[in-house]
Amino acid sequence: MGVRIDLHAHTTRSDGTDTPAEMVRSAAQVAGLDVVAITDHDATTGWDEAQAEADLVGIRLVRGIEISTRFRGESVHLLGYAFDPDHEPLVGELQRVLGGRDDRLPQILAKLAEHGVDITLEDVAAQSGDAAASGRPHIADAMVAKGYLGHRDEAFRGWLNASGRAFVDRYAAPLVRAIELLKEAGGQAVVAHPWSRGSDRVLDLAAFAELQEVGLDGIEVDHNDHDERARTGLRAIAAELGLVVTGSSDYHGTGKSSAFRLGANLTDPEQYHRLLG
Ligand code: AMP
Ligand code: ZN
Ligand code: FE
Ligand code: FE
Repeated sequence: MGVRIDLHAHTTRSDGTDTPAEMVRSAAQVAGLDVVAITDHDATTGWDEAQAEADLVGIRLVRGIEISTRFRGESVHLLGYAFDPDHEPLVGELQRVLGGRDDRLPQILAKLAEHGVDITLEDVAAQSGDAAASGRPHIADAMVAKGYLGHRDEAFRGWLNASGRAFVDRYAAPLVRAIELLKEAGGQAVVAHPWSRGSDRVLDLAAFAELQEVGLDGIEVDHNDHDERARTGLRAIAAELGLVVTGSSDYHGTGKSSAFRLGANLTDPEQYHRLLG
């Protein structure tokens, strides 16, 4: 078997259900990966714990993040790798994103209450634990814990999704700015699952060419949100522009279906070396 590389995984520091150490251990011992990236939403707080475990179990850890951004009115997720986590302008922008996530919580809970769903800030905090901020998945988990729903996913069908009854928008970093900040901080930038719902409307060849101008390095092509047709289309764009192609699981532990298990999609070793040396 060749070198197995998975460049996108979440932990309890955002909305995954494995601690950083558990995720890294599973990556090595269950999924048999040689390289795994920790990419929590808008946070790098899991890096040290993940690195300590990676050293113990003998797997290469890539230090990463998944930044919540906006591009032409649509939500776009941006993966960042191997950047300086103390770069002040980047830290400031991430604080703004995390703050926006926490600030809208009371409004979401008020909307839920209007519909007879009784969730308190304490209920959500019990679910978010050591996460850097409380997001919709934690609210969903609180709804499950209180018996309103059977699984986190159900909250995204009518309650917390963009057209849902309890949706409240929040701040996201402008995509171009986020790419610039990652590059200033010495890192690499890859658009995550670009043809997931919403962002498929705005991320075409011309858009990727513009983003490459400001420093974009790659496109996450092999992802469970992409069918074969989407993968073929995105691979063609990457080839045309000379962007790196990555693949990943977007693992969230039990927070997403088992189809998103570690190693579900992999990054080609040659592409990995183009991206991260
Ligand atoms: P938030 O950070 O509060 O805006 O929540 C965004 C997170 O919610 C995403 O990163 C996903 O992990 C999760 N999420 C968004 N849409 C869905 C969906 N349709 N089904 C399940 N989880 C979702
Ligand atoms: Zn997530
Ligand atoms: Fe994402
Ligand atoms: Fe993700």
